[in-house]
Amino acid sequence: LSDRLSDVFGRLTKKGALTDSDVAEAMREVRLALLEADVALPVVKDFVAAVKEKAIGQDVVRSVTPGQMVIKIVHDHLVEVLGGADGATDIDLNAVPPVPIMMVGLQGSGKTTTTAKIAYRLTNRDKKKVLMASLDVRRPAAQEQLKVLGEQAGVATLPIIAGQSPVDIAKRALTAARLQGFDVVILDTAGRLHIDEALMQEIEAVKRETNPHEVMLVADSLTGQDAVTVAKQFHDRIGLTGIALTRVDGDGRGGAALSMRAVTGVPLKLMGLGEKIDALEVFHADRIANRILGMGDIVSLVEKAAETIDQQEAEKMAAKLAKGTFDLDDLANQLRQMRKMGGMQGMLAMLPGVAKMKDQLAKANIDDKAIKRQEAIISSMTPKERKNPQIIQAKRKVRIAKGSGTSVQDVNKLLKQHQQMADMMKRMAKLGKKGLMRGGLG
Ligand code: GDP
Ligand code: MG
Repeated sequence: LSDRLSDVFGRLTKKGALTDSDVAEAMREVRLALLEADVALPVVKDFVAAVKEKAIGQDVVRSVTPGQMVIKIVHDHLVEVLGGADGATDIDLNAVPPVPIMMVGLQGSGKTTTTAKIAYRLTNRDKKKVLMASLDVRRPAAQEQLKVLGEQAGVATLPIIAGQSPVDIAKRALTAARLQGFDVVILDTAGRLHIDEALMQEIEAVKRETNPHEVMLVADSLTGQDAVTVAKQFHDRIGLTGIALTRVDGDGRGGAALSMRAVTGVPLKLMGLGEKIDALEVFHADRIANRILGMGDIVSLVEKAAETIDQQEAEKMAAKLAKGTFDLDDLANQLRQMRKMGGMQGMLAMLPGVAKMKDQLAKANIDDKAIKRQEAIISSMTPKERKNPQIIQAKRKVRIAKGSGTSVQDVNKLLKQHQQMADMMKRMAKLGKKGLMRGGLG
């Protein structure tokens, strides 16, 4: 398949903007790649439509082919759908301890194993006091299994009392955790081979009783098409907060990840990479994206393309700088680049002659979250507003704040920051003219 893709992409070599046919041809192959990766058909259709719309008309940057450009767009969009460029999320413990976490999923998906893995990690990495409890009263020895895993991992398990219902066990676990000062309680529920009403009612009852802070669906990455139905049913009925994808060490293509994410919108948080207790990682969107596209060898091309794009952006920026103009589109570009280059510190390191401005920039208080919020604000503006920030008066500010899910105060802050940067750019341009920056940015 990889070869087939390289072929098509290799054939598209002319430059200029991406045309309908450039994109259509490449997307036919992408569609096949997704289907072969076991992505559900409706998800494939939506994905292809979204990427087409994004791609057509985009400029092909110098020194990459239109084909590489399409790959980059496909790859980036896939990473975005799978969970954002930074990709890394984790279990959320931001609640009053003991924080209840409920694990749900089909039988054999890896719930019990993942329960122990999470507990092991929270214990060793985060120094949390974790209690695990098995609510699986259906499968003989299921509670024993968790107890043994707990002993191996050095994590406490709730003592087993025969004859209790899942809800009774859950209540007992929370009470024990409260009395004994545990930080986290992980409830490992029973699964079924298929979802049925009895299972849903049982899990609902436990949820009602324990009000879990996280409800994690454990899903086998090898299940392909089924995963969507399972995830959707659990999410509609129980309400999921995260997905742990297991058996990522297997040779599945990971299409289930894309389907589940696209259909439920629930974030993929963790991935299991083996049977061992420490074989658990936060979900890496880019790794799964590469696997879904089956483009291992093409990924380096994508990276090269990305580098080239960054370089061209930087050149454009330098030209603007030299002229001393800097509008909100430029700021948006700058913010995006900054996020890619590892934030403010990373960018400062790349600009010669700006050490003196470090303090000033630090005062602007730029961190990654703030950067994303700022990007949202700018993207809620009209093109005209971005070119002429001075027309943004009270009414427009309210609209922009609404559109970006921020406040007028945030919009004001951004505009002020832009003004400061624009002033700074003007000053730098003047300095540049005097020749102080020769050999630097120009
Ligand atoms: P449960 O029925 O959902 O509780 O599933 P279990 O946790 O008992 O797991 C079923 C089997 O899958 C066990 O043999 C586990 O060792 C295995 N397993 C779980 N997670 C992974 C994983 O990420 N990779 C691999 N290779 N095996 C896994
Ligand atoms: Mg189990």
